[in-house]
Amino acid sequence: MRSLPRGLDPLSDETLTGYILRLAHRLGTSPGMVAIRTGLTGRRRDNVLFRVPIRFLHDLGPEQVRAFAQSTRLAPEEVSRLLTSSLAERYGPLSEKFTPRKSAARMVNDNAWLLTHTPRYCPQCLVGDGSEIQQLHGGSWQRSWRLPPIFACTKHRRLLRISCPTCRQPVHTVEMNSIIARPWDEDLHPTQCRTTIAPRTIGRLQPACGAQLAEPGGVPSEELPDVQTLEHLLGLQRRLQDLLDPVGPAMTPCVGWLIPAADYFADLRALLGLVFLSWPAGRSFAATPALAEALDHDAEQRHVRARTLRDRPGKKHSSRPFTDPPLDPLLMGAVLGIAERLLDADDEEQARERMLPLIHQASDLDQALSLYLRRQAWMSFPLRVAIMNHFNHMAPMRQIIARGPIPEGGREEPKSKGYCRAPRSRLRGA
Ligand SMILES: [Zn+2]
Ligand SMILES: [Zn+2]
Repeated sequence: MRSLPRGLDPLSDETLTGYILRLAHRLGTSPGMVAIRTGLTGRRRDNVLFRVPIRFLHDLGPEQVRAFAQSTRLAPEEVSRLLTSSLAERYGPLSEKFTPRKSAARMVNDNAWLLTHTPRYCPQCLVGDGSEIQQLHGGSWQRSWRLPPIFACTKHRRLLRISCPTCRQPVHTVEMNSIIARPWDEDLHPTQCRTTIAPRTIGRLQPACGAQLAEPGGVPSEELPDVQTLEHLLGLQRRLQDLLDPVGPAMTPCVGWLIPAADYFADLRALLGLVFLSWPAGRSFAATPALAEALDHDAEQRHVRARTLRDRPGKKHSSRPFTDPPLDPLLMGAVLGIAERLLDADDEEQARERMLPLIHQASDLDQALSLYLRRQAWMSFPLRVAIMNHFNHMAPMRQIIARGPIPEGGREEPKSKGYCRAPRSRLRGA
């Protein structure tokens, strides 16, 4: 693998897609050529039917990391940081512990908790930080924008966008499951919309939308919710961002315990399904009327979708309408805010009290699905303790609780695989 004529430092939290787009722009070539020169397309035969598979967004084999590092003159660790697999340590929906899948392809295929085809973005972040290199090639297409729980930009105090304002399509619409749209198009700037708008015609290259997605200046007022809602969503977003940050707090309070960040995101995923299935049982936990109203409409549509699936012959997939995270940032913030409130209980008893109406409503509607959403492999041990069905399962918990005051710094419980009971002072940062 020969080195490319010029290198480029990756930006903070950049995706592999974004890096290839910026590097191609710097070299004055097409992203497809960069993919070939960095070894992402494998054998020559694969170059003809050109695609860089979606799984490469998530992970590369050691050989591919080495080849990519060599040709771009990056350190292998810098290459790894361009991949979403490096987020798995703090993000349960991508970690094998809560999403047991054998290969990178399986981890990303049909995993609604990684946005492979519909990345959100902040138009102001795409403008860049004003440095010379970012003025030339734009800001970072961020990895965290691929995670559904990242729905707002706290720096620019706004919700992320989900589509191009000009063509109204997702901004990197790709054919053939590739991480790069229009790989041979070398005329587009990295921050221009690469979606092909005209219908595909054989033998003719249709134009790209080409709208400039980077927008300096403020947020259009129609994209902002009311002040109280915005403040709530930004606060929630900050807390979740801190948990994803590799140097942020490793443990966080959850139903009276301290649990690892990855477990917390798994619990948010589990509760999202429960909130939608049992809606409107959790409505009173919505932070503002605007958020509750937005969820009314969305939950209704989800129930309609699930009914349609249930009535179909063959495999049902009727859990998906409830477990798929909303793409719309306001809805995502709304439902995560409720999940956060439920997990914020002082202890398992209080958590159980808060969640019982949801569990009853969900079980009345669909007992099997309600149990499926609370299955063991899907959530942290403490949440499982709080919402499991059988009173007998509470026995070990009662023994733990009976063991007296908790020392400062928490106490490791033998039955709980690395979780510890939170000392009061650690709850809510008191
Ligand atoms: Zn921003
Ligand atoms: Zn567009």
